[in-house]
Amino acid sequence: MHHRSRTTQGDTLTDTAATLFIDGSWEPAASGAVRQIRNPADGELVATVSEAGREDAERAIAAARTAFDSGVWYSVPAPERGAFLLRVAAELRNRREKFARAESLDTGKRIIESRIDMDDIAACFEYFGRLAGQQSGRVVDAGNPVVISRIVHEPVGVCGLITPWNYPLLQAAWKIAPALAAGCTFVLKPSELSPSTAILTMQLLQDLGLPDGVANLVTGPGAEAGAPLSEHPDVDLVSFTGGLETGKRIAAAAAGTVKKVALELGGKNPNVVFADADFDSAVDNALNGAFVHSGQVCSAGARLVVEESIAERFVDELVRRAQDIRIGGPFDEAAETGPLISAAHREKVSTYVQRGVEEGARLRCGGAAPEGEKYDAGFYYQPTILDRVQRGMSVVVDEAFGPVVTVETFRTEEEAVATANDTIYGLAGAVWTQDAGKAQRVANRLRHGTVWINDYHPYLPQAEWGGFGQSGVGRELGPTGLAEYQEAKHIYQNITPQVTGWFADHGKE
Ligand code: NAD
Repeated sequence: MHHRSRTTQGDTLTDTAATLFIDGSWEPAASGAVRQIRNPADGELVATVSEAGREDAERAIAAARTAFDSGVWYSVPAPERGAFLLRVAAELRNRREKFARAESLDTGKRIIESRIDMDDIAACFEYFGRLAGQQSGRVVDAGNPVVISRIVHEPVGVCGLITPWNYPLLQAAWKIAPALAAGCTFVLKPSELSPSTAILTMQLLQDLGLPDGVANLVTGPGAEAGAPLSEHPDVDLVSFTGGLETGKRIAAAAAGTVKKVALELGGKNPNVVFADADFDSAVDNALNGAFVHSGQVCSAGARLVVEESIAERFVDELVRRAQDIRIGGPFDEAAETGPLISAAHREKVSTYVQRGVEEGARLRCGGAAPEGEKYDAGFYYQPTILDRVQRGMSVVVDEAFGPVVTVETFRTEEEAVATANDTIYGLAGAVWTQDAGKAQRVANRLRHGTVWINDYHPYLPQAEWGGFGQSGVGRELGPTGLAEYQEAKHIYQNITPQVTGWFADHGKE
């Protein structure tokens, strides 16, 4: 890939687009098509990348298939694959600033958040690097002295990895690290809106000497560059993070060849606050839960479920704090949150808020783009709070994926649980109370893949992440996150072969 600095931010990508990484070489799209990536904070050109189509994706799949079948990666002992991942983590830490800038330019995310993402990504590679070395099969006691029986874990094969724009490299790392740890090969298809850090990652893997064809990248739109990853018979597993409707399409397409399917979809996550919660931390974390990264977080606490007796005081305080949030571009040091990803996405969020108001919700703050010249070129939207909502309203049901929080109230623990679980999703939720017993009771009953007690948003690479209900299928991170990329195989050996006599040998009669 040829570099040419495009902006004063330095070190950005290329304008001689050859950003498809296939079988160890950088290639343009077969059609020659390119796409311009623009910073959603100011519209500035960030990069020009190849716009892959079906043919390119198929070429990448073929490379991943050949590399897998050759054994070039899975025959490397697991501890050595793990050591490679640790080198990836170390090099990511060396290149942190370059990666963080690229992520911020593509997404508009504040640079300090991108730096945190890069640290989390390195930690993810470190976790799976260590896990790879520790993985072992197990011996099964067949209860029969002439039988040796054992379970081994083998790589699932060629993986199609499809990722969204909100945490571009973090979501990719949750797939790449365990796939490589397991010995798989893969084709990554990042969001067409935020491909830059995926490109930098392929360069890094190449620099560290990963064999050709093990890691492949196609940058391009979902329907063309992504769809083959869910359809092609040479792909063994498709792991997708993104929206519910896309997830359904991918699962349906994958059924044609009975691929393994992993889906990390959206959420409509309840943040349940009891009257006995520590008030200031609950308000502060409700703010973080809903408005970090302008709510473009799958686990955003978009449904505040608060005990009626404190609801008025709580929401008044939340509104006061939300109106105070400073908005700006990724390199604006005063800014506390940034723009939405695109004009189309802002339009979707705005329509969603309008519909809520039409359905009877009360707009307490936000509900529009911020005013001021500095916001004109970006896709900004104010932190928005809607109260007096009812269960079943679309604003309470559908994922907005923007800086929008709705307020529901409850009187009893029972009602709190029922309200929190009243969603087709089940990704994450939080409980705020100083009553330890109540905290555990409610946490036990929430039908969500992650439950925080007196906190919001933290996750650990060593703890499983994923959804109940329509938030997805399977788990990322933790030991299960590695198991997703493995097939368990039972090897059974009879050390004293014998004639069973099940079928009589009629010829000898
Ligand atoms: P999206 O579904 O629009 O796109 C996700 C990816 O799928 C992109 O790379 C896109 O190009 C690709 N794609 C689109 N159509 C495709 C098709 N037919 N075949 C194959 N690939 C296709 O989602 P988005 O707008 O990029 O991301 C936002 C969504 O992601 C939200 O719903 C959010 O909740 C979800 N998300 C979930 C998690 C999680 O961990 N559960 C994490 C981050 C984001």
